[in-house]
Amino acid sequence: MARVVVTGGAGFIGSQLVRSLIEIGHEVCVLDLLTYAGNPKNLWGVPHEFVHGNVCDPVIVEATLKGADIVIHAAAESHVCRAHQDPFLFTRTNIEGTRVVLEQACRLGIGQFIHVSTDEVFGAARSNEASGVNSPFRPGNAYAASKVGAEAMVSAWRHTHDYPAVIVRCTNNYGPRQHPEKAIPFWTLAALSGRPIPYDGDGSAQRDWLHVQDFASGVCLALETWRPGATWHFAGGQIRPNLEMVHAIGRRCQESRTVQRKERQGQDAVYRLDDRETRNELGWRPRVSLENGLDQVVDWYRKHPNYWS
Ligand code: NAD
Repeated sequence: MARVVVTGGAGFIGSQLVRSLIEIGHEVCVLDLLTYAGNPKNLWGVPHEFVHGNVCDPVIVEATLKGADIVIHAAAESHVCRAHQDPFLFTRTNIEGTRVVLEQACRLGIGQFIHVSTDEVFGAARSNEASGVNSPFRPGNAYAASKVGAEAMVSAWRHTHDYPAVIVRCTNNYGPRQHPEKAIPFWTLAALSGRPIPYDGDGSAQRDWLHVQDFASGVCLALETWRPGATWHFAGGQIRPNLEMVHAIGRRCQESRTVQRKERQGQDAVYRLDDRETRNELGWRPRVSLENGLDQVVDWYRKHPNYWS
């Protein structure tokens, strides 16, 4: 059993990571600021230690990390649209926060550090070719740029301090407990409350959907296999146009009406991650089909209508 600190553990992905880590026998401490996106309910019934604090605060970070064997850094400002309004918050939390957590983890000699990153660092795919771990970064919005900055910090600590931190990049996660600002809960909650489902532009933008349990299993496998300084990709392999997703959710909610809105500012058409290396090295595969995953998620939001209010 190891002691794992999960930053952002009260968020959507973080809380699934906490669950998966506990299932495989680890002891978990969550460090989370509980911003609008963090929800203590996400961890109800899950045995863990909780520290309320900011990843940009070196004193709290140092105190929390002392005695840890593993750090999984998932805290971030995560919503692209908010990044247009307040890019400074994104650079502070995502870049500076990563610098602080890395610096303290390295100083304390914590053996395993995983930084959670995103397919968005590569920007919109220019062809059918998927981005490999060393493809060039072309961030298309301030969120993506801040995640590139965070990765640059990891790269700096790998190089200057010989700190072999690992980066995991994933495609769009979905699952229960996700904040309603994100696409799948947003569409689902509209449909369940009897409103036409809004979609942006012509609905042709595509995303590759990965169930959050599959991503968390991948992170657990990465800890087990461990290659110091590795970068691993996790793709759902289920790329769908947004309009198709809207209809798929509508069918599950008996809501056939949709409403078109203007295209999202800076919308990237599609992201593609090449995860063949991860599949070979970790033996990882996503297990949850989009069909089953959507059934589960719609059912979860149906049963938890006031979860986020
Ligand atoms: P989320 O917004 O649901 O959760 C973020 C968590 O971080 C929240 O609990 C919030 O309270 C916490 N947090 C924010 N600022 C903080 C700060 N300064 N100090 C401490 N805690 C803070 O996000 P998510 O969707 O769970 O994403 C988790 C990670 O995965 C992020 O790094 C994100 O960039 C990355 N990611 C997410 C997706 C996705 O589809 N959701 C895809 C690729 C990568």
